[in-house]
Amino acid sequence: MNTAPTLVPLVTGVAGAAGAAGVYVWSPGAAGSWGLANCGLLVAGREAALVDTPYTLDRTDDFLAAARGVLAPGTGITTVLTTHGNGDHGWGNQRVRGAEFVATRRTLEHQCVEPTPEQLRHLVEGTDPGQPLGWYFRRHFGRFDFRGITVQRPTRTFEGRLDLRVGDLPVELHDVGPAHTVGDMVVHLPTERIVFAGDVVFAGDHVCHWAGPLEGVARAGERILAWNPDVVVPGHGPLLDQDGLRGHIAYLRDLSEQASSLHARGLTPTEAARHLVEEDRYPDLHLPERLVITLASEFRHLDGSDAEPDILALMSDCAEIAWQRETRGAVR
Ligand SMILES: [Zn+2]
Repeated sequence: MNTAPTLVPLVTGVAGAAGAAGVYVWSPGAAGSWGLANCGLLVAGREAALVDTPYTLDRTDDFLAAARGVLAPGTGITTVLTTHGNGDHGWGNQRVRGAEFVATRRTLEHQCVEPTPEQLRHLVEGTDPGQPLGWYFRRHFGRFDFRGITVQRPTRTFEGRLDLRVGDLPVELHDVGPAHTVGDMVVHLPTERIVFAGDVVFAGDHVCHWAGPLEGVARAGERILAWNPDVVVPGHGPLLDQDGLRGHIAYLRDLSEQASSLHARGLTPTEAARHLVEEDRYPDLHLPERLVITLASEFRHLDGSDAEPDILALMSDCAEIAWQRETRGAVR
């Protein structure tokens, strides 16, 4: 049931680097899933860095075993680049002992509003599977073993931009939040023309943005395009080229317009999400119930509210929509 994904090389033989070198992506997810984030491995000379770690310790062990398969003996993973504070991008960090954990300064704040691993475990195991919330958590989070996780906080934070090197490989870190969360980081490898976008970009599924506004997420996407990348690694889903990212930005802008008009009509975010789901406005994207979360973030901006999202209430509404679609046989 836990089939380990493989590590796929995006580039091998990084320009100017001696020895085994390359950029790899570890893509565990299929469309229509939560929590299965893409991770990256950067190797140059005798140094290596990770971009994000998986949600759980067993999955992180799988990722690290795959990484060891391409690392020359004596190569250490010295740095972990955490794109943002959601657990599915960093709860495996404790497995990388002695590394420097780099994230934006605001990512520290976001970690405070997330459910803990124990709380998530309770939501999977301690809720009623005959009700929408329990059914939804089991369906999407039941595959994860949240035991034993100690959340590792960043040991180095930055604002704006931070330039690093992994061996000879230049690595630019850009703080593009608030977007998906309050403190999103995008990893740009300018010499390789690769961008690890974290959850500023999703592919195949509806976005699930906790901070926003959507225009801010779209602008982060445009910053990525301006770097003229060959490959954009989204936080979840298959790799994108520039046209794929342009399509995603157009979707974000359309969603923003829809949100404004539905907000002006006096709908609640959940009513607005239901409206778009019923309309089947974006038929190619999975998990349409997540519009509840994204529209709630957008409506907070439209209302000028700085309240924190009520994660449990939002997930309950999400679950309700998914449950109703399931019972009608319309699940995507
Ligand atoms: Zn994610």
